[in-house]
Amino acid sequence: MAEAALSRLRNLPSVDRMLHRPDIAVLAEKHGRLETTQAIRETLAALREELRSGADFDEDMIVASVLFRLAVRANTRLQPLFNLTGTVLHTNLGRAILAEEAVEAATAAMRQAVSLEFDLANGKRGERDDHVRALVCELTGAEDATLVNNNAAAVLLVLNTLSQGREAVVSRGELIEIGGAFRMPEIMARAGARLREIGTTNRTHARDYADALGPETGVILKVHTSNYRIEGFAAEVRARDLAKIARQHDVPLVNDLGSGTLVDLSRFGLRKEPTVREAAEEGADLVTFSGDKLLGGPQAGFIVGRKDLIAAINRNPMKRALRVDKVRIAACEATLKLYRDPDRLAEKLPTMRLLARPAEEVRRQAERLMPALVDALGPGAAVEIVACQSQIGSGALPLDTIPSFGLSLKPKGGGRAVEELSAAFRGLPRPVIGRVAEGALILDLRCLEDEALFRQNLSFYRPGGAR
Ligand SMILES: *Cc1c(COP(=O)(O)O)cnc(C)c1O
Repeated sequence: MAEAALSRLRNLPSVDRMLHRPDIAVLAEKHGRLETTQAIRETLAALREELRSGADFDEDMIVASVLFRLAVRANTRLQPLFNLTGTVLHTNLGRAILAEEAVEAATAAMRQAVSLEFDLANGKRGERDDHVRALVCELTGAEDATLVNNNAAAVLLVLNTLSQGREAVVSRGELIEIGGAFRMPEIMARAGARLREIGTTNRTHARDYADALGPETGVILKVHTSNYRIEGFAAEVRARDLAKIARQHDVPLVNDLGSGTLVDLSRFGLRKEPTVREAAEEGADLVTFSGDKLLGGPQAGFIVGRKDLIAAINRNPMKRALRVDKVRIAACEATLKLYRDPDRLAEKLPTMRLLARPAEEVRRQAERLMPALVDALGPGAAVEIVACQSQIGSGALPLDTIPSFGLSLKPKGGGRAVEELSAAFRGLPRPVIGRVAEGALILDLRCLEDEALFRQNLSFYRPGGAR
């Protein structure tokens, strides 16, 4: 090794010396001594390599590198981003965005002690379900209600409570897979229920149910086929008729609605889905639905219906393992309260607001943003406004789309250019997630609310994703 390199190596400051610098002391105060020492060690180790190959250094460089390493480690992995995929309730991007009211309620519950299981009227132990029970009953017309971790948990708990060691009767047309590991036959097996499939994939009749019911039956399960539809020569038994059969045989009927909505979606220009209230009125003994799909709240699973069945569910020891914490209960309560004023729902609840945004408004936004994108991308890509179709997502109205507008960014390079362009957008300080179609990156603007932040963010765009 050259003499100069050796002498630079010898002059490298010690960890201790670095820790005693006032600017590093400030960092140690913020990030902790252990983290800071580790960052200094890593920086010095990397620097030693570089000095061997002839580089030079000064101490300010070391400080800058330590600062950078600490900042990277402090960065959250769960990053806020712009969802411009066109899927409003995107499971991989966290589903529903909560209303401000829900965020405030959740934050308050995080900061303070709360009356989670404490009855303020008599000073005795209370029930955590009490905070939402009355509201859910008011909004759905159900007799009773309980809340668990998510709708998958709701289905698992209901099946385990009503049909452990017994048969759960379900149509072959409804043996769904939701995605991930939620497959109805497997959930049933884990719940300890014996799956009794009836009918065929495309047609199931009332007599199929009636023939299957007997002393071994624990429950009849009706499942909303959330993410597909069987069309053509198809028949299913309507919930109302199924309820009659269930009652005749004295067997509980459970309707897993999946997304479930509390309001008539045609108010927002969407196709009407049966509401939870309607499903309950049709005679289901229990109805299950998600908190973070169309309802627009935090991840949760609601079970509503007959008082005696809800009581049995609450006695099941599994309930304790699947219950929700105070933060989500607070957010659920605040979200549900918004439903008392349906006229202002589209304004207050982000999910409804985004779904209800008129296409014309989205188009005007595309026009406003177009020059900024042309500017950022330069001559390397063609930018144009395109009509596109948004979807609700999370298995609500799977075949229905909502007319929307977006910006199509088509790189001139061809080959992998569009992948590189999407990577560059994902690499922005606030990652922008679009969808790639026909050689272009499409940014569906339906879910873009903070336009100013989007513009600011765009100023960090560098071709190839370098920052
Ligand atoms: C989405 C869905 C579930 C699972 O709900 P999560 O809230 O995601 O746990 C169960 N059943 C149906 C029909 C669904 O659509």
